[in-house]
Amino acid sequence: MHRYLSLLALAGALFAGDALAWSAEGHRIVARIAEAGLTPAARAEVDRLLAAEPDPTLAGISTWADELRDTDPVVAKRTAKWHYINFDGRCGFEPPKDCPGNNCVVTQANLMFGVLANRDKDDASRTAALKWVVHLIGDLHQPMHASMRDDKGGNDYQVNLDGEGSNMHRIWDGTIIERRALGAEAYATELLLQPLPDDPTLASDRPTLEWALESCRLVESGDLYPAEGTHVIDEAFLDAQLPLAERRLREAGYRLAMMLNYALARPKNVP
Ligand SMILES: [Zn+2]
Repeated sequence: MHRYLSLLALAGALFAGDALAWSAEGHRIVARIAEAGLTPAARAEVDRLLAAEPDPTLAGISTWADELRDTDPVVAKRTAKWHYINFDGRCGFEPPKDCPGNNCVVTQANLMFGVLANRDKDDASRTAALKWVVHLIGDLHQPMHASMRDDKGGNDYQVNLDGEGSNMHRIWDGTIIERRALGAEAYATELLLQPLPDDPTLASDRPTLEWALESCRLVESGDLYPAEGTHVIDEAFLDAQLPLAERRLREAGYRLAMMLNYALARPKNVP
């Protein structure tokens, strides 16, 4: 992990869709879990970088990347593919085929991490990079954002839920977790009571790819979809998905904290 992070920090010096993401609530939950895990040094740097934001918290900026569709449609269009990756039939990563033009969540999360960790970059660039990292680490833990199926991350898989039309992407973005009606703050507080067990992906040189491949394998298992050929789901189906959805939120939150602590806590100008 540390070797990977160091490489990315160095790489940062060199680099200058229709899928939505977790719902706003999902992103805010991930950000709140991460916020609770920041070291004092990372906390101070987050506060400094976000000082001019209307809501200067990780939760407050966690949905900025999705809101670009309203606030800056040109940038939103240019970055639409940064929110997901399509693995094309199998859970494996072969750039550039799986990430044309670096426009996918795995590569952009890495590039933005590199900018954030690089103290030689100007504050505006690092603040934008922070917003992207917080958002994209959330997105790549939403299984439908890193799928091997050819259904546009579940957007093209229509389902009927209690007589209402929906699709598997929307179900995973928000429906499963929003049913609990807890609100992001209370939800994050509850999930923080369930720390993660040992996380072998933290030893990887390519953790963001590992996390995306985890998402892909969850989709590949078939357990996230209704039975083959079926397009009707019910409350029991959603209940059965809930523990996994909550585990992905916890994983995203804890791992995001770890990334931010590393990117933001090092002494100035030491890559
Ligand atoms: Zn997104």
